[in-house]
Amino acid sequence: MIELPVRTHERRVLLDITAEVSAAIREHGGERSWVAYVPHTTAGITINEGADPAVARDILMVWERLVPDDLPYQHAEGNSPAHVLSCIAGSSVALPVERGDLRLGTWQSVFFCEFDGPRSRKVWLWPV
Ligand code: ZN
Repeated sequence: MIELPVRTHERRVLLDITAEVSAAIREHGGERSWVAYVPHTTAGITINEGADPAVARDILMVWERLVPDDLPYQHAEGNSPAHVLSCIAGSSVALPVERGDLRLGTWQSVFFCEFDGPRSRKVWLWPV
């Protein structure tokens, strides 16, 4: 298993980590595909268009509309919207690998989804 450190600098952001994920997989080599897993309850991971950074901002905008900050949440820590957003994004993605290299669709990137930052985070990667 590889533990990839991720530092976020905003409260909420979809951070393109494709280069870091790709380098980690290439370094490890092998023919198997991988799973990326985010071991946090207020963050997530997803794959979508990375060519135009506006797409990631649009996705976050829509998710924030779905999860208002001003609902009567019961969780005393005060970050329930971040927990809900984490469920929407999901905690893992499959990463296809071909000849030792990450193989995504032409426009795809891997995004770490921060919903309660800024924080020091991590992504776990392992071959499956
Ligand atoms: Zn909490």
